[in-house]
Amino acid sequence: MSASLEEDRAERIARLIPPEVRALSAYAVADSSGLIKLDAMENPYTWPPELEDAWLERLRGVGVNRYPDPKASRLDARLRAAMSVPDSAGVLLGNGSDELIELLILAIGGPGSVVFAPDPSFAMYALVARATGRRFVSVPLDAADFSLCPEATLQAIDEHRPALTFLAYPNNPTGNLFSTEHMHAILDATPGVVVVDEAYAPFAKATFFSELERRPNLLVLRTVSKLGLAGLRLGLLAGDPAWIAELDKLRLPYNINVLTQVTADFALSRYDILEEQTERIIRDRDDLYQRLCALSSIRVWPSSANFLLVRTPPGTGSATVQRIREHGVLVRNLDGASPLLHDCMRVTVGRPEENAAFVAALEASISA
Ligand SMILES: *Cc1c(COP(=O)(O)O)cnc(C)c1O
Repeated sequence: MSASLEEDRAERIARLIPPEVRALSAYAVADSSGLIKLDAMENPYTWPPELEDAWLERLRGVGVNRYPDPKASRLDARLRAAMSVPDSAGVLLGNGSDELIELLILAIGGPGSVVFAPDPSFAMYALVARATGRRFVSVPLDAADFSLCPEATLQAIDEHRPALTFLAYPNNPTGNLFSTEHMHAILDATPGVVVVDEAYAPFAKATFFSELERRPNLLVLRTVSKLGLAGLRLGLLAGDPAWIAELDKLRLPYNINVLTQVTADFALSRYDILEEQTERIIRDRDDLYQRLCALSSIRVWPSSANFLLVRTPPGTGSATVQRIREHGVLVRNLDGASPLLHDCMRVTVGRPEENAAFVAALEASISA
């Protein structure tokens, strides 16, 4: 392209893309080819061959020439049953819960309103809030155990009056469940909506579903991603039907594609297999936690999710992640992601042999 065309384009980008969008970085996903992939909280297990055959058979009759069922009614019923959503709740399906996070931020509060979440927490809340011209406010978690700091949090809520508050339960990337007492205090105090993001509910066996009926400002977010269906992109928001009806106005038509509808319905009809895999991951998480506790130079925190947060000695975090990668294992580097996460990495619980490879790579890397 000629220099003058380049200049013309650069001028238009500077003039038309808002500064807060230009200042963002796209959500980074590391290249995992050839590596043991322990960076994205995926379930490491595939389906037994006979299940895969039955699934492919089920796909045979699916017409991709037609738009999907706009309400995904069959899948909606299947998800409600699998996740024990209260009958009185309304449900909104999203193309991943990420899409629902974006929809919530677009729908609630409007431009200039405040989105609140503790720090550190799931990166998407701040990313979408900033990209859409909302003001993102956060309060640090407790530096030792990542619990909510109720006084500072309630003070910030009082001062900034967030339209929307996100509480990941358990929290990503710290893995802990916040105390229900602190959660209730926030629900009581906030003038806005509180979204409890239960992406890791299958591992934590804790939920705010039972609070939906008595809380006018509570919505609960779920996903099938961490359960073993990350590739399908399917999330669920549950809440009072009046809230769901408002939010549904912003949902793009046909957001759940036909292959996802059929496949998720099929997979959840064999929920026992996903549950068995989940139980296995919980046992392996506890085993990996014990093994990491035995390493004297690192720190690891207990987790209610399918990952562990690990801290290496001061100043070694990023280099250790790089060396672990040279040993063939990909984990998520969190060094620099938040002041509270210096020298931290997040490792997803994989298959036993993958977890063993991680421990070996970590040991070799910290002693190097
Ligand atoms: C992984 C994750 C999500 C995103 O889930 P998708 O349904 O895959 O978009 C949402 N919230 C938290 C806290 C997560 O860790």
